[in-house]
Amino acid sequence: MSKICFIGLGNMGLPMALNLKNAGHDIIGFDVTDAAKDAAAKDGITCAPTVTEAAKNVDVVVSMLPAGQHVRTVYAEIFASGAATTTLLIDSSTIDVESARAVGADAADKGFTMVDAPVSGGVGGATAGTLTFMVGGADDGFAAAKPYLDIMGQNIFHAGASGNGQAAKICNNMILGISMIAVSEGFALGEKLGLDAQTLFDISSTASGQCWSMTSYCPAPGPVPTSPANNGYAPGFAAAMMLKDLKLAQDAANKVGQPIPLGAEAGSLYQLMDRMGQGGLDFSGIIEMLRGEL
Ligand code: NAD
Repeated sequence: MSKICFIGLGNMGLPMALNLKNAGHDIIGFDVTDAAKDAAAKDGITCAPTVTEAAKNVDVVVSMLPAGQHVRTVYAEIFASGAATTTLLIDSSTIDVESARAVGADAADKGFTMVDAPVSGGVGGATAGTLTFMVGGADDGFAAAKPYLDIMGQNIFHAGASGNGQAAKICNNMILGISMIAVSEGFALGEKLGLDAQTLFDISSTASGQCWSMTSYCPAPGPVPTSPANNGYAPGFAAAMMLKDLKLAQDAANKVGQPIPLGAEAGSLYQLMDRMGQGGLDFSGIIEMLRGEL
């Protein structure tokens, strides 16, 4: 069993850390808020007072932080702390590709093995241990991280070199954001034209309009009983989180000069939904905005 430092014990991090603990690993936590530390303590995870203390004498560090600047700050402290270079570093936060590659390169320079391993699957997947991990890093880093990721997740993909985990995550989520708007427009227009949602679903889900946003997560109530549309658009995956990922995609696209006109438009629409105070709704709730019903 390993000694694991888990940094960032929020909505995702705490249940992920608990799965590692329940698998028999020894967990030491760290978070900047008392609320997160108290919640962790209630679940039997002790927190260290500083990152340096938390990352001392551990086999693995796993981090689950809000954004690139937090990841840069935390790992700069670890690199300066004298932590053993045998410590495997796994960052599962969703952050910009540039920060992931910069921190990964810094880790390699200092002699550490590090992977970026962002996830999809949300709090439900984190709790159930069924997350999908998209991993960027060298083969040996992937092999070393996989036994730990297997505990927290169900599908573990090696996406290539450092930063490619983040690249895979933002490309996938950009496709998802665009396709959700496409399906929402189709169902909103269908309704206005007098087409029953179930009928459109039956036709389109077996025809060329078929995609995950329709068949697994239909934004119109009815056809897919488990979709948030049947539960008042409670998330699921909040529109604000989709907006974050679309901003990361836009930022990455600007840096490499790749046009993403529909990704940009999707970002504007989710920004509007967020500005309307509806960022907490599931991202499929964008159909309500298109109907003028938000
Ligand atoms: P959260 O805000 O609930 O948790 C983040 C935690 O990090 C908080 O407890 C915060 O106090 C802590 N933190 C911030 N700065 C810190 C620092 N310098 N040192 C230590 N702790 C620090 O967020 P979350 O929903 O758990 O998301 C975490 C990451 O996972 C994000 O990058 C998010 O994009 C990604 N993600 C979230 C979901 C989701 O459904 N919530 C799904 C997929 C990916």
